[in-house]
Amino acid sequence: MSTSPEPYEIYAVKYAYRDAVRAQNFIFSDAHDVPMPLDYYVWAIVGKSKTYVVDTGFDEAEAAARKRDHIRSPAEGLRLIGVEAENVEEIILTHMHYDHCGNMKQFPKAKFYLQDREMAFATGRFMREKFIRHSFAVDYVTDLVRALYDDRVDFVDGVREIAPGLSLHHVGGHTDGLQVVRVWTRRGWMVIASDATHFYDNMNRTNPFPIVFNMGHVMEGYRTVQALADSPQHVIAGHDPLVMARFPAVSKETEGIAVRLDADPLHWE
Ligand SMILES: [Zn+2]
Repeated sequence: MSTSPEPYEIYAVKYAYRDAVRAQNFIFSDAHDVPMPLDYYVWAIVGKSKTYVVDTGFDEAEAAARKRDHIRSPAEGLRLIGVEAENVEEIILTHMHYDHCGNMKQFPKAKFYLQDREMAFATGRFMREKFIRHSFAVDYVTDLVRALYDDRVDFVDGVREIAPGLSLHHVGGHTDGLQVVRVWTRRGWMVIASDATHFYDNMNRTNPFPIVFNMGHVMEGYRTVQALADSPQHVIAGHDPLVMARFPAVSKETEGIAVRLDADPLHWE
């Protein structure tokens, strides 16, 4: 008889946002100049014995440099759902763009799961191209190289189950080494897609967000995410404000800050 793994709880914590219009968020023309802001999130996967954090966000200095609206540090947001950054031991980095891998000093005990190809990408020949390296922050990349030399990086080559009910899957596309996270929850298999689909509409319309390293892999990534999740309602987009609208707040205090993703969606229009 097969036994199911213990289900995990999953949370999204919003720490920043950016105003944008619809046309900025799709590579193939989408002529509507209506507002379509981006949210910036980190995620927490909470199990009976261990908590995993997915991505670590950017800090205030980086927000100021890039004119993003920084609301709170990811560590502050995580504290509001009972996760203390200084105690976190395992962090999954979906990729090394500036909005996903900063703030490392706030997680002194953590080791980091990263795809081989992402570290190679962020430190290799394509960083000679200014439009490709623009989405990376050299200080954050350097922090991760230091973490590697401190035995704090654990590499993934493609697919790896890191615990029962929790696995990492390379998709690439947006960056060469982007990975998504598949999680067993009380409502089935969910996928934290991160930037495999910034907005739900990128995947639904097969119309990628304009930061693309390999277009074919972006589109294959949509198929991979859909195959790994039990339904479209089990996919968590990386930057979509709909995540905050579709899922219930963790508590009254965290309205607009943190939502529970393994709860049934409130609505799905
Ligand atoms: Zn991102």
